[in-house]
Amino acid sequence: MSRKVVVIGSGIGGCAVASLLAKGGDDVTLLEAHPFPGGRCATMEKQGFHYDFGVHMFSRGNRGPHGEVNRRLNGDLRWITRDPSCRVLGRVEFDFPLDIKPLQRQVKVARSLGVGVKSYAGAFRLIRSLIKGDNVEANDEIRLQDYISRFTDDEMIHLFINCLSQLYFALSYKEASAGEFIWCFSRMFKDACFGYPVGGSGEIPRSFLRGLERFGGKAHFNEPVVGVDIENGTIRGVNTASGDYPADTVISNCGILRTIDLAGREHFPEDYVRKAEQYQYSNSYVTIKYALERPVVPYPAVFYMPDVPPDRVFRYVEEKTVPEDPYLFMPVPTNHDTALAPDGKQLVIVGTAAPPQASDELCSAILDRVHSKVCELFPHLEAAIIWQSRSGSTDAAELTGHYAGEAIGLAQIPGQAGSLRPEPGTPVTGLWLVGADAGSRGIGTEMAAGSALRLADILK
Ligand SMILES: Cc1cc2nc3c(=O)[nH]c(=O)nc-3n(C[C@H](O)[C@H](O)[C@H](O)COP(=O)(O)OP(=O)(O)OC[C@H]3O[C@@H](n4cnc5c(N)ncnc54)[C@H](O)[C@@H]3O)c2cc1C
Repeated sequence: MSRKVVVIGSGIGGCAVASLLAKGGDDVTLLEAHPFPGGRCATMEKQGFHYDFGVHMFSRGNRGPHGEVNRRLNGDLRWITRDPSCRVLGRVEFDFPLDIKPLQRQVKVARSLGVGVKSYAGAFRLIRSLIKGDNVEANDEIRLQDYISRFTDDEMIHLFINCLSQLYFALSYKEASAGEFIWCFSRMFKDACFGYPVGGSGEIPRSFLRGLERFGGKAHFNEPVVGVDIENGTIRGVNTASGDYPADTVISNCGILRTIDLAGREHFPEDYVRKAEQYQYSNSYVTIKYALERPVVPYPAVFYMPDVPPDRVFRYVEEKTVPEDPYLFMPVPTNHDTALAPDGKQLVIVGTAAPPQASDELCSAILDRVHSKVCELFPHLEAAIIWQSRSGSTDAAELTGHYAGEAIGLAQIPGQAGSLRPEPGTPVTGLWLVGADAGSRGIGTEMAAGSALRLADILK
């Protein structure tokens, strides 16, 4: 029998589960607070530049959960990969290959990273163990830094993994779960499909929504849900300013705490609410989008590792201050898809980590440091700027409705990774969670799509 389903929010998780359920025959309505889809994975347009809200690249491209959703929907999402996939800059400079499975490539990367010869044996054992990826659960409760230290004390490996942890999870390697990192690293490098979608990051949720429409579902924008109706522990529907939407299944993409608030805390057991309040969130990211008159950055993406010892590189986040030398991740969307900017122009996006709930003032000070570093790395950039757009923690909070303005979602730390993540089901019959905060593993958007695939299978 077809269910009446309302999905709250058009982030990756919301769009994916809405379209998958519509394909399965459910009567699905998706309600989104903003005039555009995608949440943190939205793409906006200004003067012919199609720029992402986030600093997005996708670790598994077509082979990961986005590809799986697309295949189940017979969708039209297309991917671009580049080899080398990224230019590493900083204390060392080299091109990072797309596929590091062959041993010779691992040797080359270790040499390029400046790993000391006496550390080679530990480094290769570490890479083998990470790529093999078969000891995930056993390491969920281990901190990534401790896991790496079992293999090597090489400073360059520690710096590299610490920066990669900030790229994967918006968490330092002192905080992140080793099991979660092993899961993500092994899939990223086994798949060797790191890439970017044709049409920009926002094309992922948009393509899922085209699936929703094809299968008879509806999406309404500028339609924030203001309440969730529950009677005797069972879902009845949701309300917006324009009226009521009755439903026997409600799926919330707006985070566990926000969902509890929309429904009313009295409908949940006290320990469920207490636990939801105690969850920790990932760091925020501050970002600059540069619309450039001409191409300045020749790489598909840049990964800048600062010249700072690994144990100090993210201390500024803990101390809520400004980095001495900021780690940077800088995708260049137009080096993947030239149609994302007017002819001959370039779009560059750069970001770095900032504390959760960082004030506008702090975000702005960190961004000034980021801009100086970008101009130091690419001296011709400043003169080519047509416009730049900056965003920080409060922009992410406004975009998602999540209180912490976090980049990724619930922090992937010991105690919150793997089986200890909130389940998609809630204590209310018919109320479910989807998105980066619910019941999955992976990197950001891929975790959100994984959550949607899991929930669609539960509700089959
Ligand atoms: C700067 C930055 C860089 C990132 N880099 C990467 C990366 O390189 N790779 C990667 O995979 N991921 C990355 N991420 C993370 C990734 O974008 C998120 O983890 C993912 O998009 C979260 O998806 P979600 O399904 O949880 O939904 P969200 O993005 O949280 O969207 C929730 C949606 O629900 C809507 N909503 C909320 N409340 C209501 C309401 N009451 N009524 C109606 N609608 C509502 C919101 O408007 C929003 O559209 C990055 C994020 C940021 C910010």
